[in-house]
Amino acid sequence: MTKEAFNPWSSKSIKNYEAAFDEFGLKKIDNKLKLDHHLFRRNIIIAHRDFDKVFNRIKNKKPFIQMTGIASSGKLHFGHKSIIDMFTFFSKFQNSRNYFAISDIDAYCSREKFKSFEETKEYAIENLANVLALGVKKKYVYVQSKKESKYYSFIFELSKKITRKSFEATYGHIDLGKIQASLIQYGDILHPQLKDYEGKMPSLTGIALDQDPHAKITRDIARKFKLELPSFIYLLHQSGLKDSKMSASKPETAIFLDDSNIEIKKKIQHAFTGGRDTVEEQKRLGGDPEICKIHEFLLFHHLKDKFVKEIYDRCRSGNLLCGECKQLCTDFIIDFLEKHREKVKKNRKIAEKIINN
Ligand code: SF4
Repeated sequence: MTKEAFNPWSSKSIKNYEAAFDEFGLKKIDNKLKLDHHLFRRNIIIAHRDFDKVFNRIKNKKPFIQMTGIASSGKLHFGHKSIIDMFTFFSKFQNSRNYFAISDIDAYCSREKFKSFEETKEYAIENLANVLALGVKKKYVYVQSKKESKYYSFIFELSKKITRKSFEATYGHIDLGKIQASLIQYGDILHPQLKDYEGKMPSLTGIALDQDPHAKITRDIARKFKLELPSFIYLLHQSGLKDSKMSASKPETAIFLDDSNIEIKKKIQHAFTGGRDTVEEQKRLGGDPEICKIHEFLLFHHLKDKFVKEIYDRCRSGNLLCGECKQLCTDFIIDFLEKHREKVKKNRKIAEKIINN
């Protein structure tokens, strides 16, 4: 496993998870730590750092911090949705203290495409309307560029706790924009533990595996401030529809939350499957859902375990052909997104107000 594979700005997919766990010291989520959510039940939340601390807090009804965010650098796709789904799930525990960042400064600093900060606003509004539509409560949301001075004082303070060397050793490069973006991210995860916010306590952030370098540095910084080491749970990457990482920069690999019905049909139609070359072979030998992007999509997003299992079993036994399966997946996505778009519409004004005020 190379550093490149764990580069948060790379669009390459991570293939060998087990090797990654060993090399990077992550713990696998075992059955004792599973909560009742499809991402846990289906082993999509696959690894953790100190999740047991938060798990025990949940079991003992004690407070814990939950923090996540979305960089407003582009449109949201279903890969982002899993992280947001996780956030809404944990935010429903009575004792969670929730922080959801609209990361506009992070987006501006780390993405070359933005020539002015103003350009991030449009995405920030759109992203926020989608985040609210997916069930994140407005009261949990903050916008990086609108945070109070004590948050920024903390970020300046923490910037002195990390050296150029350790940044380079972790990420393999020194890019000023990305350094700034990363410093803000560390601050996002740690600031809720300051006494002006919730105070020192276990915190949880759900991330994709390739974000681990941020997690490790954040924990190092927490040590230097004598804060509780933040816990992380790691979600498997939903790979792209074309056998690569789902990426906003490659629109054909992802279903975006604002894709039209025609775009959805087309993308699903051209998705990589585990189907056989001929109908006869598929009926005789069955397909391979393990490598199929349609099955993977349903595994990540369809809420009914029974439905997803039936797809798997019917595919394996040769009782399901890819044409019918793609249709079922298309219907599911269209139905979900039609309802979602209505909710986005209702939340757009609220989002505009938060971002523009
Ligand atoms: Fe994939 Fe469905 Fe075809 Fe099986 S039947 S390979 S799950 S598209």
